[in-house]
Amino acid sequence: MARSLLLLPGDGIGPEVMRQVRRTIDWYNRRRGLDFGVEEGLVGGASIDAHGAPLTDATMDKALKVDAVLLAAVGGPKWEGLTFEKRPEAGLLRLRKEMDLFANLRPAVVFDALVDASTLKPEIVRGLDLMIVRELTGGVYFGEPRGIEDLGNGERRGINTQVYTTSEIKRVARVAFELARKRGNKLCSSEKSNVMESGLLWRQEVIALHKADYADVELSHMLADACAMQLVRNPKQFDVIVTDNLFGDILSDEAAMLTGSIGMLPSASLGAAGADGKRKALYEPVHGSAPDIAGRDAANPIAMLLSFAMALRWSFDLEDEAVLLETAVQNVLKTGMRTADIMQPGMAKCSTSVMADTILREMDKLSS
Ligand code: NAD
Repeated sequence: MARSLLLLPGDGIGPEVMRQVRRTIDWYNRRRGLDFGVEEGLVGGASIDAHGAPLTDATMDKALKVDAVLLAAVGGPKWEGLTFEKRPEAGLLRLRKEMDLFANLRPAVVFDALVDASTLKPEIVRGLDLMIVRELTGGVYFGEPRGIEDLGNGERRGINTQVYTTSEIKRVARVAFELARKRGNKLCSSEKSNVMESGLLWRQEVIALHKADYADVELSHMLADACAMQLVRNPKQFDVIVTDNLFGDILSDEAAMLTGSIGMLPSASLGAAGADGKRKALYEPVHGSAPDIAGRDAANPIAMLLSFAMALRWSFDLEDEAVLLETAVQNVLKTGMRTADIMQPGMAKCSTSVMADTILREMDKLSS
């Protein structure tokens, strides 16, 4: 099998949107002579119901062996009462941890047809195409010591530790530099080097790596608070932004909202390159399992489809195929076709499957 994929549909709308990816994969195999081999597995609540655990060892093993994992979403009210380690989200966390996915790629792209869905003025967001690279496995969410201690005098103290090492900074910065080279060749590194030692180290290491290996990329630095302001003031100044786990958490959600709809947002999480040069990779939409609309053929499949486009680009180096899918999405939106979440006055409301049918027909048209 030349190109292997593991599909993990998960819960809620997950199976509905993943079905559309499966059809798209079949399209590539049939129409483009590609050789994607697909396996499916359970994760989250679906796995709890079948196996009593949010991710089995067998599925974890498969995830470690394939070229890329596509995950839709996990969770729902049915499993909310369980303890933290048994909850659906624990399956996702295990995947991220054991695959050591340290670089989280969050694109924020505004499609022309949806420019009015943003809460920002059209002239600020029209044509926006930026990428945030968030460090995902280090920093204050994982640093030790951590906890809540009783000081014995009626006071308690909550502690978290922001900590980064040279290699943690360099490996995520390297991903960001490589990405910038494939895009507009501009990287902005964001931290708080004015008030945090870890931020100062971050800046120094990024500068050193730039000098050593990426001097051709235009590098700038911005304090994270300024970056938060610039993202809403003039987001088009950015191409790629690289930042730590905490600031990335916030800045990537802020950037996502520039685009207006959660049903449109893909993401990728990448690990280290193996001996064969391939990185472990997990692709997933930013949205959750949307239990409120599950089972109604009403979910927007575009975030999931664009996550697959990211896999085509980053795991399989199939740039033209990724652009084909992205262009088909863009063209279909231009025709006025909308799922309920992105519905606008005067447009045509459609279901999950009709949206995917139309995108696949557009791919036929574009490639004939
Ligand atoms: P959510 O993203 O599932 O839904 C938020 C709102 O957006 C809902 O109104 C939903 O109907 C809508 N929405 C989301 N995706 C959509 C799509 N593709 N098309 C149309 N509308 C869409 O977030 P939530 O409601 O906070 O969480 C629901 C469940 O999902 C919870 O169990 C939560 O833990 C889980 N969750 C999982 C992930 C993940 O798997 N990565 C991420 C976030 C939330």
